[in-house]
Amino acid sequence: LSMKNRKNRRRYGIIKGVILFALAIVLVGIFMNLRLRSLLVNYMEKQVAEQALVLAGQAEERFRLEFQQLENIAKHLSTDMSDFEIHMEHAKQGENMTMGLLALGGNVVAGDSIEYDDYPVLQDAFRGKQVIDFRKQDGMVFAIPIFHGENIKYVFYEKYPYDQLSERFGLICYQGKGDVGIVTSDFEVVVPFSKDSDRLENNDSTLKSDSSTNKTQNDFIKMHADAFQTSLAKIREQMQVNNATAVWVGSNPSLILFAAELPVGDYILLGYVDSGVVSEGLMDIATLIIWVFGLLILLFAIEMFYLLGAEEKARESDELREAKEIAESANRAKSDFLASMSHEIRTPINAIIGMNEMIMRESDDRQIKDYAEKIGNASQSLLSLVNDILDFSKIEAGKMEITPNEYCLTDLLNDVINMILMKAEQKKLKWKTEIEDTLPSRLMGDEVKIRQILLNILNNAVKYTDKGTITFSIQGKMEEDVFQICFSVRDTGIGIRKEDLPKLFTGFERLDRLKNRNIEGTGLGLSITKNLVDQMNGEIKVESIYGVGSEFIVNIPQKICDDTPIGNHWSVLNESKSIEEKYQVSFRAPNAKVLMVDDNRTNIFVAVSLVKDTQVQVTTCTSGEECLDHVVKEHYDLILLDHMMPGMDGVEVLQQIKTLEDSKNKDVPVIVLTANAIVGAREEYLKMGFTDYLAKPIIGKQLEMMLDKYIPEELKTKG
Ligand code: ADP
Repeated sequence: LSMKNRKNRRRYGIIKGVILFALAIVLVGIFMNLRLRSLLVNYMEKQVAEQALVLAGQAEERFRLEFQQLENIAKHLSTDMSDFEIHMEHAKQGENMTMGLLALGGNVVAGDSIEYDDYPVLQDAFRGKQVIDFRKQDGMVFAIPIFHGENIKYVFYEKYPYDQLSERFGLICYQGKGDVGIVTSDFEVVVPFSKDSDRLENNDSTLKSDSSTNKTQNDFIKMHADAFQTSLAKIREQMQVNNATAVWVGSNPSLILFAAELPVGDYILLGYVDSGVVSEGLMDIATLIIWVFGLLILLFAIEMFYLLGAEEKARESDELREAKEIAESANRAKSDFLASMSHEIRTPINAIIGMNEMIMRESDDRQIKDYAEKIGNASQSLLSLVNDILDFSKIEAGKMEITPNEYCLTDLLNDVINMILMKAEQKKLKWKTEIEDTLPSRLMGDEVKIRQILLNILNNAVKYTDKGTITFSIQGKMEEDVFQICFSVRDTGIGIRKEDLPKLFTGFERLDRLKNRNIEGTGLGLSITKNLVDQMNGEIKVESIYGVGSEFIVNIPQKICDDTPIGNHWSVLNESKSIEEKYQVSFRAPNAKVLMVDDNRTNIFVAVSLVKDTQVQVTTCTSGEECLDHVVKEHYDLILLDHMMPGMDGVEVLQQIKTLEDSKNKDVPVIVLTANAIVGAREEYLKMGFTDYLAKPIIGKQLEMMLDKYIPEELKTKG
């Protein structure tokens, strides 16, 4: 549940992240857009302001030409006044244009009359200036002084009517896509905007009346007054500092207003142009940039999602690993528990087996011996069950290792056959051994594991066969430079159903439960067997006919150490071991002193009982510390030392025995007692300094052999 919660929380986290990311993108997009826009506007304003300057130059040029013309006429007039009319007619550009020569005070000397009072700037001309003046709805006046020597004699003026101004002084900007006019500093139109005048010209002539002119004048102002108000204010403000400026009005309509100072009069060139006209091309670049930006964002988003996904996966695999670790550690804990539990169970079973053996040895009562034998059998199968569990947990924990060693094939087969033969005989089964006499006598491999494999399948054959024959055959063959030893166990037992065959090697799987309910087993044997075979790179095969019998075939690659053929002395051996003999002690040594150290009192009791008949003097103790007390006090002929003990363990105790200054047993053989009866253990223990080792559970015969081997001959009494 918590995993699900965590997952959900993470999912919300991701969604939140994505939303925040999207929001960030949108914000960045908006910011980019604004920034681009402001950059663009700045750029356009600058461009347009420059254009305004150019236009102002053009307008100025027009005015300059106007004055030039006036000056030319004035030049003639100053020398010869008689041609005035001719000159005037010549200079007139339109029919409504007026021209005249004014005397000081405003009287017309020649040409058209003019309302002198309406154009106050004319007085400035009498002060020697070239002037331009404009009267709303009337027209524009240009005037220059005419000198006579040092003095100003006349003022020569010309006046264009309002409706001719556009034609005469109108400028074209942006190929007619913009509109420009000349206004006073109060934005009163002087030279009308060309588009307005275009419109005028396209309309019928009646519109050319004053009212239409009015309309024209007002059109631009009125139409845009509201929208332009702030922009015009801005222009007015900027014009105080710059001689040209442009202001973007806003996006609807997207216009740029521009203005430039004219050097003559108090006039301003004012115009507007659609921003699209100015930004043509630039807009495309901006759009392109936004596109690219969008694409980049998209890529970034994809990458982000990918990263999020990857992170998610990484986290998931982390979780999986965590879960796996937890599961593994749980499994390890289980295996450890099983191992220690089976160890715990084995100790009392060993005691039972040991004590039972004492009963068998010492009792002459047939009945009691019969009971004891049954106890012995039951204990043995209990022990093998516990051993199976231990093995299985070892395999599960991955602790089952293959340790190859050189071994004698004859010994291996002897042991295995002897152990099974007894059981087969008890069930009155026929036994057949087929051993190729050319098999090499010494091989390299894990003898203990092979022994376990063979015992498992041989035991099963006996277990699941009620009558008939069990055939054990061993062959060898070379397969691509590798020697394969092939064991086959054939029985005439109950057989296995075809559909059950695949389940055969699964742990805890027992087949045919109904039929087998009286047969002891855990269903672990074959699973362990298969595992061991696999670990040795071998293979196991089963052929079976239900109700007829089964054959288990095991192939295991082994190295050959000695290829001397093992020969065929098997039949002799088979028979010789099949009869249980009455126990007889092999030696007696009443003066020999043996020290036995084991933390388990039952083990000590069993061991002491088992060696009772040898008459050796056994001193016992239950800890390493006690043992050290003994070794400084007395000399022993042999020390049996348990490996695993609380406090000081066997290895430490051994070091002390060998090195303690007042140890009286520095050179005494020390035999380690261990439950670690794995192959290679012997070498390990010898390396540590032990003289030999005895595997637990201690078997009476083996213990006796060990004593026999290490107790000095002179202490033994014959018989
Ligand atoms: P166990 O013998 O402890 O039940 P095994 O793993 O050794 O477990 O065997 C698994 C099952 O395979 C047995 O329960 C039995 O049903 C079947 N089996 C094994 N060997 C034979 C055999 N030789 N003949 C018939 N059935 C067998």
